[in-house]
Amino acid sequence: ADWPEKGALKVKDLCARYGPDMPDILHDVSFEVQGGERVGIVGATGGGKSTLAKAFFSFVDITKGKIEIDGRDISQIFLGQVRSRLGIIAQDPILLSGSLRLNLDIEGRYSDEELYDALHQVQLLKRTESAGDASEGSAETLVGGAQMNGRSSEQQQQDNIFRNLDYEIKGGGENLSAGQKQLVVLARALLKKHRVLILDEATASIDSATDAEISSVVHEEFTGATVMIIAHRLRTIMPCSKILVMDKGQVIQQGSPVEL
Ligand code: ATP
Ligand code: MG
Repeated sequence: ADWPEKGALKVKDLCARYGPDMPDILHDVSFEVQGGERVGIVGATGGGKSTLAKAFFSFVDITKGKIEIDGRDISQIFLGQVRSRLGIIAQDPILLSGSLRLNLDIEGRYSDEELYDALHQVQLLKRTESAGDASEGSAETLVGGAQMNGRSSEQQQQDNIFRNLDYEIKGGGENLSAGQKQLVVLARALLKKHRVLILDEATASIDSATDAEISSVVHEEFTGATVMIIAHRLRTIMPCSKILVMDKGQVIQQGSPVEL
């Protein structure tokens, strides 16, 4: 029931494809990550980084090889358990249509205080007393970026769309930016205290403040967890102890950031 305890990852000769009659996208990918280690994955667009992340959640077909977490082959574990025990922050996450509360806590496990704490941690909720603006009787306003200062009023208005836990997310989050959606999923991952977290950094249209926020929360809050970070920015992988470089569905280089 405590799986995964350490979060040690072992990927061995992994080949995977998007469906029957489709070619393999991953070709004999092998690497190991110790429990608590953070590994950065970089490489050209289309290199297979997101596909590798999806393989951990069986969103792609594994045609050869395996993934072990703490010595257990994940294909032998009930899929629902695998998906609920590992945290993933997808490149462009799809949220549930429903309240912000539902998106953070589908099982209704956490108190409002815990939910608000998580939103504070990811900076989706900021105390606005210093800003001195009218927050309609509330001392807190939900925002989508790391900084309020220096943002245009249009941007601030956009940031203030989340006013409380009942904020209604429509169409899987189509009215939110990729960064805002990632922050919501990150808050959920913080609540669940995952031992294994996979972050697939957003590429398009993410402002650098939000992006920096996500990577700092991941590095600072998930101490002790095994973290796999698919990165498009050098800054994000600086604190990683191991880097994998992927190209054409293969790991073409691996080593410490200094070695590479
Ligand atoms: P990026 O840096 O742009 O995010 P990536 O390294 O994450 O790129 P992947 O998304 O893993 O790359 O794509 C690897 C290959 O898999 C590409 O050739 C892509 O066309 C293919 N691919 C991705 N998603 C699908 C899909 N849903 N169905 C079929 N092929 C796909
Ligand atoms: Mg990708």
